[in-house]
Amino acid sequence: MNAELTLFRDNVRRFIEAEIAPHYEQWEQAGIFPRELWHQLGQQGLLGVDLPEAYGGFGANFLFSMAIVEEFSHANYGSIGGPMTVHSDIVAHYILNNGTEAQKQRYLPAMAAGDCVGAIAMTEPGAGSDLQAVRTTANREGDEFVINGSKTFITNGQHCDMVIVVARTNTEVAGSRGTSLFLVDTATPGFQRGRNLEKIGLHASDTSELFFEDLRVPASALLGELDRGFAVLMGELQRERLSLAIGAVAAAEGVLAQTIAYVKERQAFGAPLAALQNTKFKLAEAATDIRVHRAFVDECKSLLMSGELDVATASMAKVATTEMQGRVADSCLQLYGGYGFMREYGVSRAFVDARVQRIYGGTSEIMKELISRSLLA
Ligand SMILES: Cc1cc2nc3c(=O)[nH]c(=O)nc-3n(C[C@H](O)[C@H](O)[C@H](O)COP(=O)(O)OP(=O)(O)OC[C@H]3O[C@@H](n4cnc5c(N)ncnc54)[C@H](O)[C@@H]3O)c2cc1C
Repeated sequence: MNAELTLFRDNVRRFIEAEIAPHYEQWEQAGIFPRELWHQLGQQGLLGVDLPEAYGGFGANFLFSMAIVEEFSHANYGSIGGPMTVHSDIVAHYILNNGTEAQKQRYLPAMAAGDCVGAIAMTEPGAGSDLQAVRTTANREGDEFVINGSKTFITNGQHCDMVIVVARTNTEVAGSRGTSLFLVDTATPGFQRGRNLEKIGLHASDTSELFFEDLRVPASALLGELDRGFAVLMGELQRERLSLAIGAVAAAEGVLAQTIAYVKERQAFGAPLAALQNTKFKLAEAATDIRVHRAFVDECKSLLMSGELDVATASMAKVATTEMQGRVADSCLQLYGGYGFMREYGVSRAFVDARVQRIYGGTSEIMKELISRSLLA
């Protein structure tokens, strides 16, 4: 298994060097990577690798999917790695774990091929951390549901062909008991994309508002049980949070490696920066910080694979590693001096891209809230 994983990792790395690196800056400038890349990722076998073969995957385990996340994060290409994680590790697994056979057959092979790009729309202008405040509604009319509302900050919002929409199906009860999930094809009348939002980082990934106006879906578009959407969300969040944690550690490892190379080259006071005690100490601190977190996420990988990763532990992994990523990126940027503030240098991108990691997938504060609940229960 280890040899296979190493080989797979090498292939991912080669693909990144050949097909991503030469174009990435141009995509960042454009504010979006081309739709065609999704097909290319599919052809290359980089989407949904851990889906069963019957649904277009390779039946590989979680570590293979995470090897992709790690390689894209390490190489500092978060604008591609993030959207891929949403598509392969979040949306596809919602369908795999909660969908009907017809839903799996319809979407998963197309997602693995890159023909259908997936997104998940939970957040609304008035409901982010507080998901129970979602106002998008899905009202039953005969054999259909009619969806009305809007979402914001949706990753893959411009490219997506299908979006999992979180909507209230019963407004008489608390959100936790009256929310459902729907698989919405974006070609459905009543679906509209907002603009591609301008962000301070992750420029090449598309993030958008989405609008639903009297959008009709058949009852068969319901994902999981009616009114039980929160149970589905809670069941899937551990994997999402761990994926972010794994990406955070790999990104920190990547920016540290870049920085080590830089401080050996850059001269100050007649010697490389690496000769200064402050530089040595900063590198030592970062390497130690990373190593401690690497050990924890590796433990969490095993826990997830044996079905034992609980909410509190996944939340610890998410908050600890993403805060660490921020610390390491900041320290590394400082070692570059003014060059670290220039877009031309990868460290500046690592720094801005790290910032959102503490916000999406549940903010650091929400992670602490969840951890404290397990302590005080
Ligand atoms: C680039 C990007 C991509 C995203 N992709 C997606 C996506 O694909 N799909 C999707 O559905 N969403 C997505 N999001 C949304 C993201 O998940 C939310 O931004 C996040 O959950 C926070 O919600 P909010 O922005 O409404 O902030 P708020 O909930 O308004 O929080 C504001 C501040 O208050 C704090 N806060 C809130 N509640 C508490 C509390 N109980 N205790 C202590 N502090 C609290 C927060 O931690 C934060 O610091 C994305 C966001 C970004 C920036």
